[in-house]
Amino acid sequence: MSTNIVWHNTSVSHEDRIAHKGHQPALLWYTGLSGSGKSTIANAVDRKLFELGCHTYLLDGDNVRHGLNNDLGFGDDDRVENIRRITEVAKLFVDAGLIVGTAFISPFRADRAQARKIAGERFIEVFVDTPLAICEQRDPKGLYEKARAGEIANFTGISSPYEAPESPEIHLRTAEMSVEAAAEQVTDYLRRKGFIFEGAE
Ligand code: ADP
Repeated sequence: MSTNIVWHNTSVSHEDRIAHKGHQPALLWYTGLSGSGKSTIANAVDRKLFELGCHTYLLDGDNVRHGLNNDLGFGDDDRVENIRRITEVAKLFVDAGLIVGTAFISPFRADRAQARKIAGERFIEVFVDTPLAICEQRDPKGLYEKARAGEIANFTGISSPYEAPESPEIHLRTAEMSVEAAAEQVTDYLRRKGFIFEGAE
């Protein structure tokens, strides 16, 4: 643990940044099985928000694992540390005033609860709810095929559990809706809760 480290307050406050941006910062935490549509929907939402003039940033699972978390694997301890680091980074972006999207499987309830605790009231859990059979049929990265062949250890849904959210702020049933409709449901929520303002459509 760090010692002799003092927190510095910055001269441009969090409130100053919010006033400057014209919308509230938020953390959209997408969770769901591999292939459920997290990246696809998060990108569609990001594009919509961007076009509305919102300041946004997307943290994508695979991209973060190429850099910040390239020392981490997929065992339970590494998955926990993966989520902890991502949450701390997302929190910095939220503090900077952005609407941040994170697209990680984040299979464990306890980790998402920890993320919620660290990020605070701006945490919005988005459950990308797609049945395993459909994810496996989509298999956009060919990972299910490899997992079924025993080539990938600890694969969520196959050889590692996925604990579905019990009361997510947003519940997207992608088997019954288009990507566009899912993105609409997310931006509607942000509008309804006052993160983005009425005029924004
Ligand atoms: P994840 O990020 O959860 O691993 P991806 O977004 O990479 O998932 O892949 C989901 C795949 O499913 C994409 O190829 C996407 O085009 C496809 N797809 C089909 N229908 C939908 C839908 N209704 N919502 C989201 N994705 C969908």
